[in-house]
Amino acid sequence: MPFQLSSALHTQPTPFYHYDLALLDRTLTALQQAAKPRNFQVHYALKANVNLPILERIKNQGLGADCVSGGEVQRALEAGFAPGHIVFAGVGKSDAEINLALAADIWCFNAESTAELAVLDALAGAQGRTARVALRVNPNVDAYTHPHITTGLAANKFGISLTDLPAVVAYLGSLPNLELVGLHAHIGSQITNLSVFAKLSERLNELQTALTDQGHHLPHLNVGGGLGVSYEHPDEQAIPDFEGYFSMFEKHLVRRPGQQVHVELGRAIVAQAGTLISRVLYVKQSQQTQFAILDAGMTELMRPALYGSYHHIQNLTSTGPEQLYDVVGPICESSDTFRKGVQLPQTQRGDLVAIRSVGAYGEVMSSGYNLREKAAAVYVGQ
Ligand SMILES: *Cc1c(COP(=O)(O)O)cnc(C)c1O
Repeated sequence: MPFQLSSALHTQPTPFYHYDLALLDRTLTALQQAAKPRNFQVHYALKANVNLPILERIKNQGLGADCVSGGEVQRALEAGFAPGHIVFAGVGKSDAEINLALAADIWCFNAESTAELAVLDALAGAQGRTARVALRVNPNVDAYTHPHITTGLAANKFGISLTDLPAVVAYLGSLPNLELVGLHAHIGSQITNLSVFAKLSERLNELQTALTDQGHHLPHLNVGGGLGVSYEHPDEQAIPDFEGYFSMFEKHLVRRPGQQVHVELGRAIVAQAGTLISRVLYVKQSQQTQFAILDAGMTELMRPALYGSYHHIQNLTSTGPEQLYDVVGPICESSDTFRKGVQLPQTQRGDLVAIRSVGAYGEVMSSGYNLREKAAAVYVGQ
């Protein structure tokens, strides 16, 4: 269904984030229909969107929580996720964050270095606890996505390199307050070439074989997240190809008897449910270019400025003949441009504009730069 804004919301002050909870529910249903029969556990990556009404729906569908900061662990607990369904990842966890997660007795820490293991062991010991740990490996698999959201290449800062892994596993075994429960990998985001997940599976199979040969039993495998969405066709492809995604792992990942497999999806779950609604402040004609200047900018949606990312843009008001516009925000930065050369029906001051597929990594990255007020969040379809 094409995006529609209910007439009641035409007078809502702009800009605002518009979340379609009915679409979120349909997405979660499709996700669980693909995951559950194959016995995959899904953790939602909170960093994509941390709004409580969204988290509550996700929790109610039986997903766990994947956090990358102490604040996210706290938010997951506030939203009602059971501590036993929370994992904590991140290349630079502070002592305070680790202590908070230990005290909450979360299910698992995804650790990335011997230096981190030493700190985790000491802090767990001081609390009289044992911390469960999955080691994040850097599988050196190219995700074929934007360089800024590629995380599984040897050159990236994330994970433990394949050659270092045996030594790190041995070191972990020497630490009294840690328990190795599995391996973790996350190779990037907005992955649309699913064969990448077959490669990841094969790499994990090799690692598992090597570790089993050394006598290590791994009850859990966490293959990370990264499934992409269609930014070009948010209406036609509102729900990602979860079947294709899980069947890749089903086909290629070798599971040991009783082994649990976890995935951590963020974007694929929430991206299409969010739309940024904005109003045209001015249309400005320069020598070469016609600008549509919106009341939303990079302070509300940073992805285009940060990654040059594409979002579908629609004028919800006008039905005039199409023209070309550079669609920009009001912020004092030239990178505050949503997209250049956008075909829109003839656009005027006051027209409502929808920027699509912003439910993930949209509102969470908003800032107060230029002393901008935070945009409201509006929920429909509940
Ligand atoms: C960001 C992140 C995810 C989620 O990535 P998506 O592309 O949103 O699915 C999963 N795991 C880890 C460790 C992450 O950092």
